[in-house]
Amino acid sequence: MATSFDDLKSGDKSALAAALAQIEANSGTEATADLLSRAYAAPRAHVVGVTGPPGVGKSTLLGKLIADLRGSGRTVGVIAVDPSSKRSGGALLGDRIRLATDPDDNGVFVRSMAARDRLGGLAEVTVAAMVLMRAVYDIVLIETVGVGQSETDVETAVDTVVFCVQPGSGDSLQFMKAGIIEIPDIVAVTKSDMEAAARQAKSDIIGAIRVTGAAPGGTDGWETKVLSLSALHGRGIGDLVAALAEHREFLASEGRLERKRAAQAQAWLSDAVRERFGREGVKRAGKLDLGAGESPFRRLVGVARSLAR
Ligand code: GDP
Repeated sequence: MATSFDDLKSGDKSALAAALAQIEANSGTEATADLLSRAYAAPRAHVVGVTGPPGVGKSTLLGKLIADLRGSGRTVGVIAVDPSSKRSGGALLGDRIRLATDPDDNGVFVRSMAARDRLGGLAEVTVAAMVLMRAVYDIVLIETVGVGQSETDVETAVDTVVFCVQPGSGDSLQFMKAGIIEIPDIVAVTKSDMEAAARQAKSDIIGAIRVTGAAPGGTDGWETKVLSLSALHGRGIGDLVAALAEHREFLASEGRLERKRAAQAQAWLSDAVRERFGREGVKRAGKLDLGAGESPFRRLVGVARSLAR
């Protein structure tokens, strides 16, 4: 049976699990579009993407971040995007984060999803899962493994991007070269217990941002924040939480958040139509402009129906 929106909103984890199974199995159905559209119209969470290369300390950080947020009474949904094509290097992200959370705590839900092969953006179903969780929790964290261009994928679906950089790894140089410097709202230099290397990495990043002129204002006037933390030693987690809150507040003013989310929904719809129906489908579908507040999920069902005629 299809999960109702009220079941989902109740915060019952099994209802969310059922809803996620539903969007994975029956993505094109009326019932699924209904559920997603109701969730889309009732956003609650601040959606945060945490990205960075493997080994930088993302899972450790997420574990500590979740504990901090739960400690202050906030509920948390986590989507760990596992790079399915490269399953080397130990346990999956989602498993590692799950290890750090209390299975009996109803205020935290961790879900792994495969990255699937895509050229840009997150998989269609990952975005749908985010929309469901966004209606339920106070904060949704989406963790992706960034290697080269894939850092930018998460940007297509979140409000705030946190990019993690490891001291002494040359990540800061990569960061400059790869042209992703304008993407993160917050740069977290991990493993600050590595003292001198961590300080160096932080000043490299600040220098890189200054050189490219990316700040202030890569994104709408926000000055990229650079902070250093040690998840292992529990240092700097509060600073990250504060920086997240500050960015959220920044987005909340002057309609920035609505604009950003509307643009993301529009891009999602175009991608979804292209992915399902190909270039020919996009041509036949014609104008895909969403109206104010219009659900991209409902629209997609409409497009599919019109193309089937
Ligand atoms: P991920 O691949 O980005 O999720 O990285 P992990 O969280 O799995 O961490 C990779 C390695 O770095 C593990 O051995 C962690 O114990 C270690 N690590 C994580 N955070 C810190 C830290 O704050 N300081 C130090 N020294 N090591 C850390």
